[in-house]
Amino acid sequence: AQAQFRPADLARAAGVAWVDAQALGIDHQQRHVQLTNGNSVPYDLVSFDIGSRLAVDQLPGVQQYAIPVKPVKAALRVLAAAADAVEQAKPATPAEIVIVGGGAAGTEIAFCLDAALAQRYGRSRYRVTVVDAGAHLLAAYPARFRAKALKLLQQRGIAVRTSVTVAAVELARIVVEDGAAISSDVVLWATGPRAPALFRDSGLPVDQAGYLRVKPQLQVAEHPTIFGAGDCVSITGYRWMPRAGVYAVRAGPVLARNIQAYV
Ligand SMILES: Cc1cc2nc3c(=O)[nH]c(=O)nc-3n(C[C@H](O)[C@H](O)[C@H](O)COP(=O)(O)OP(=O)(O)OC[C@H]3O[C@@H](n4cnc5c(N)ncnc54)[C@H](O)[C@@H]3O)c2cc1C
Repeated sequence: AQAQFRPADLARAAGVAWVDAQALGIDHQQRHVQLTNGNSVPYDLVSFDIGSRLAVDQLPGVQQYAIPVKPVKAALRVLAAAADAVEQAKPATPAEIVIVGGGAAGTEIAFCLDAALAQRYGRSRYRVTVVDAGAHLLAAYPARFRAKALKLLQQRGIAVRTSVTVAAVELARIVVEDGAAISSDVVLWATGPRAPALFRDSGLPVDQAGYLRVKPQLQVAEHPTIFGAGDCVSITGYRWMPRAGVYAVRAGPVLARNIQAYV
């Protein structure tokens, strides 16, 4: 990694207690959050900012052979694994790097990986392919934007295979529905965000996909002592909002002001 920061140190510097554990559930009647370390933390007010999970399918071989692009700890393996594949490939055979998921994250990773590998090895040593089940890459974006992205991908020699549904990941190949298997030395899994399970499991109000439902004030209407922001929430009246860092970051100051106003 080129840059790292330690949230635990930042928290301590700001006088905030840091507990290194995951929230498993919330008891909103007793007002405490249950943690993976067996403890629970009582609260007068709680804010959930826990992001989204990666939609890692239960398809055969995904857990075993694919590298998820989230969480960041797992994603740090992406470049190293791709570089290893290039170095191990025979000189005349380009390493096959396949990214499953052609949304913003998969497309961004394709560009970034290509930039890093081209500089280090030259483009003849590898091939990056983005595979997506839908009819279009970047399906959530306007047609002009998609066309521009496709052109840039083509200029870099990055292959795009749409309308291809992955059925299984095996050693050195991806099995697809209705078609020939795709050779793969490295498989990266970028199939989009999924809601954390804890909101639905804890009986909190969620949208259809399981994201915590909050008002535009980032507060749960039915439980005023519960707030939330970023990828993990669904803001009433803003259904179009993508799960992207640019929005999560902007929610921060709003969340802080609203919490201050509430207490
Ligand atoms: C490969 C990739 C590339 C991306 N590129 C971009 C980009 O270029 N631009 C952009 O705007 N967005 C991008 N995104 C999306 C962006 O990363 C997210 O939208 C953003 O990080 C959401 O911020 P957040 O604070 O809500 O959640 P996160 O950044 O996911 O942070 C959530 C934190 O909560 C912690 N956590 C999770 N569960 C629990 C729990 N149960 N208990 C306690 N802690 C928990 C996590 O460890 C994490 O530290 C990308 C995403 C991916 C996967």
